[in-house]
Amino acid sequence: MKTAIFSTKSYDRKFLEAANTKYNHELLFFEPRLTYDTTALGMGFPCACVFINDLLDKQTLQILASGGTKLIATRSAGFNHIDLNGAAELGMTVVRVPAYSPYAVAEHTIGLILTLNRKIHRAYNRVREGNFSLDGLMGFDLHNRTVGIIGTGKIGLIVAQILKGFGCNLLAYDLYPTPESEGLGIKYVDLPELFTSSDIISLHCPLTPQTQHLIDKEALSLMKPGVMLINTSRGGLIDTQAVIDALKTRKIGYLGLDVYEQESELFFEDLSDEVIEDDIFQRLLTFPNVLITGHQAFFTEEAIANIADTTLSNITEFELGGACANEVRAKPFVARDNSIQ
Ligand code: NAD
Repeated sequence: MKTAIFSTKSYDRKFLEAANTKYNHELLFFEPRLTYDTTALGMGFPCACVFINDLLDKQTLQILASGGTKLIATRSAGFNHIDLNGAAELGMTVVRVPAYSPYAVAEHTIGLILTLNRKIHRAYNRVREGNFSLDGLMGFDLHNRTVGIIGTGKIGLIVAQILKGFGCNLLAYDLYPTPESEGLGIKYVDLPELFTSSDIISLHCPLTPQTQHLIDKEALSLMKPGVMLINTSRGGLIDTQAVIDALKTRKIGYLGLDVYEQESELFFEDLSDEVIEDDIFQRLLTFPNVLITGHQAFFTEEAIANIADTTLSNITEFELGGACANEVRAKPFVARDNSIQ
């Protein structure tokens, strides 16, 4: 199938071309993100293949549809960058890669926890400068600490499994508790209890209207002073300004982010010679107890190979039958209950 691949990096091209020896699609690679302004690139392609910072709003989808696009294949698990209702109205199918390596994201999450706790990023720089002082590098034992996991799907469950090995007490909140998690010794609690009881809170639920700004001023007020907050899921789960306020009052003791609400303007690009105009992001970088990675949790060889293979397989399934097991459809909107639960 003739496919326009947006937001192409060299690694995307390498893995997609390797996987395509099995599928034989006609792939055209474009470096720009797909936005309203770049839609013309996708005209005349039955399939547009996108990534998380492409922006497929109704207007963009309309233009693609008018050029004959029938399939949107996202190389991601999350699909909050695509207007699913708009796609459905236009008769477009949306497919995704539901799982490519939950281990990649879970292991990166643990990396953020360990690095922040033991201040490995600061120690690395100190030792290279001949400073072997330990002042300011004290951490805490993870053993016996309580970790609250929000979202015990594929990634959250693996995070829990690894943390169990460290001897942590595990709390969780999920709309759909699983026996598998309970078997691991995870105790499901409501959100206020998770917030008040956890030393570390790690987010692994999707971004939906209900979870937008799940971590807001009210949620932060319930947390333990000095709490560690980790987000490797989606930036929109966190009200970043509220988090900055909580860093200033020392309510948050450690913040580890792989995702950021306004990341589409920043991440995946080399901006080292540019002026970054996002004052909120720049403020985050001023705190010594904040560690940010640029949406790299998924970035392992296994994950990228799986993404390439599943994406091309999705396109083949659609081409052959018009349907695909990895199709995502719009769900009816449910307003967020403002009481925390
Ligand atoms: P998953 O679908 O297996 O699990 C998500 C879990 O969240 C499910 O158990 C679901 O019941 C739960 N959930 C849904 N709505 C909820 C709510 N309102 N409150 C609490 N729990 C809720 O997904 P996954 O593969 O574990 O991925 C989790 C998230 O990680 C994805 O949504 C994606 O945003 C993010 N992600 C990030 C990266 C990265 O590179 N940083 C890579 C892949 C996925």
